[in-house]
Amino acid sequence: MFRSMPEIKCVPFSANETVMYRFGTPGTRPRVYLQGALHADEVSATLALHYLCELLTVAERENRVRGELIVVPHCNPAGLRQFVHGRHLGRFDLSDGRNFNRGFPDIADEIIHRLGRIAPQNLNTEMAIDTGASLLSKVRCESPGDQFRIELFRMSWGADIVIDVHSDMESVVHLYSSPASWPRIERLAAHLDAQTVMLGEVSADMPFDEAHSHAWSKVARFLMERDYCAAHRVSSCTVELRGLADVEPALARQDAAAFHDYLVDAGALDPIASIASSAAALRTAVQPISLDEVDMITSPITGVLVHCKDLGERVVPGEVIARVFDPTEIVPYRAWREIVARYSGVVFARWHQRTVRAGMVVCKIGGANGERKPGNVRLPD
Ligand SMILES: [Zn+2]
Repeated sequence: MFRSMPEIKCVPFSANETVMYRFGTPGTRPRVYLQGALHADEVSATLALHYLCELLTVAERENRVRGELIVVPHCNPAGLRQFVHGRHLGRFDLSDGRNFNRGFPDIADEIIHRLGRIAPQNLNTEMAIDTGASLLSKVRCESPGDQFRIELFRMSWGADIVIDVHSDMESVVHLYSSPASWPRIERLAAHLDAQTVMLGEVSADMPFDEAHSHAWSKVARFLMERDYCAAHRVSSCTVELRGLADVEPALARQDAAAFHDYLVDAGALDPIASIASSAAALRTAVQPISLDEVDMITSPITGVLVHCKDLGERVVPGEVIARVFDPTEIVPYRAWREIVARYSGVVFARWHQRTVRAGMVVCKIGGANGERKPGNVRLPD
């Protein structure tokens, strides 16, 4: 156990290494796991978590760490090295074409199968955690991509709170989480001053945070059916820490302070005595919306994208939010196409490149007024 300096554990996978920092005493609660840059180009997370480690090193020195904190500023070094023709590509694994934040394992059924052999009166939450850890320690995957996912799941398994920090293309701070997780995630949204929060139970193809919440919802249900009151239920979320280019030390230090203050609220840290009641702690989280209240606006044509609304701007139906210019159209007045808002809401994310093809999502609007847009799915970035 370290005191003055963070323990650094290198977890080998594929041909690379992931650096993990652990603070506090292993086994103490709450255990909080934070990782950044699963999509390897979304490095606002990396800088923020790097500065968070500095704050936690001080907290460790001052004996203020009460729980166990695991921080991985860049969890995807293989993705970090993916350059093609001088451009970095961090969202998809070039070795297999898969989205790095999809296809995490569903281990709940196997845990339940193993727990089913144990007498109900002997069941408890720690047993479920240990069973999952044992299962994950024995998994061997032939595919480097699957092994990578297992390694991340192994590092984070058993945490009370799992925070996966990404960024969107261009965006304000926003979060994805689940209704069950929200009570413990709400303060994080407030500290980060998130402008949009989306809650949903299940989306497409098992992203990292959802793999945790999904597994624990099933295991907790199993335990409760056997009259055991399952005390542990993970709270997980995906934080979108603005856009790809919002990588600035001042912002990163601000975000690190927000994560630090949240860890105080979560009971993982004692507060810094001199700033125990900061203004940030008094913020109220934004009212969450459901995933089907998000309108994903697509471009009708291929061409040059011009955004007409700023991030965080509120729009109403019929307002022009973007225009697309078709340079192949020989009749000038036909070359421009307007994209208008279909519902009222806040523009919380925009596409970052200005050349788009027909059908691409160019803007995300978080709907107000409970309006429904059936068919939308969560797309954490
Ligand atoms: Zn991402």
